[in-house]
Amino acid sequence: MRKLDTKTIVVASHNAGKIREIQDLIGPLGFTAKSAAELNFIEPDETGTTFEENARIKALASASAANMPALSDDSGLVIDALGGDPGVYTANWAETADGTRDFAMAMEKVEKALEKAGAAKPEQRTARFVSVLCLAWPDGHTELFRGEVGGTVVWPPRGTQGFGYDPVFQPQGYDTTFGEMSAEQKHGWKPGDEQALSHRARAFKVFVEACLEA
Ligand code: IMP
Repeated sequence: MRKLDTKTIVVASHNAGKIREIQDLIGPLGFTAKSAAELNFIEPDETGTTFEENARIKALASASAANMPALSDDSGLVIDALGGDPGVYTANWAETADGTRDFAMAMEKVEKALEKAGAAKPEQRTARFVSVLCLAWPDGHTELFRGEVGGTVVWPPRGTQGFGYDPVFQPQGYDTTFGEMSAEQKHGWKPGDEQALSHRARAFKVFVEACLEA
């Protein structure tokens, strides 16, 4: 496992919600990070079929464009009753005809698919959010870190915090959705903590333990 020996990195993302969460998570560790969006880097095509492949594509593109280490996140909602959909294609389910993203529409699409699958009871609506972080160096070396959180898809959506599908995801053991949680509650983690809640914070904890701690 290669250690990270700089505190200046690129957040290899064009997704505002993700960038905010990654900045929240790395800030307390003393990192200075600009995002691929701020640096006007081209958004690479996510041609992989796994979270790992897509995370690698994004991190390598930014590391090479910036000539410094880059951290990406590929994530998605994996719903059991839908055979794992939308999974790697979670962002695509939100795409509209004019190329923008509409998450209210995407959450409705998920709900329609669950209705079609006859998944009405909470125990038939189990899901997990997955986040795979990739740290890439300009020489092409990569390290991957995965985090997952189990829960239930609820309907109707609840809460206006967070981003994406947060209003329909209620993590196991909680009676609020991610959309009803503050950023601190959703991460459920800060440096030094034993536990993390969100998939991204869980992956982040693995990254910190593997690449930052001596
Ligand atoms: P991608 O990783 O850029 O392919 O996009 C993943 C998609 O999954 C995002 O567009 C979000 O809609 C969704 N997603 C990933 N993580 C979260 C999260 O923490 N909350 C809500 N939605 C998420």
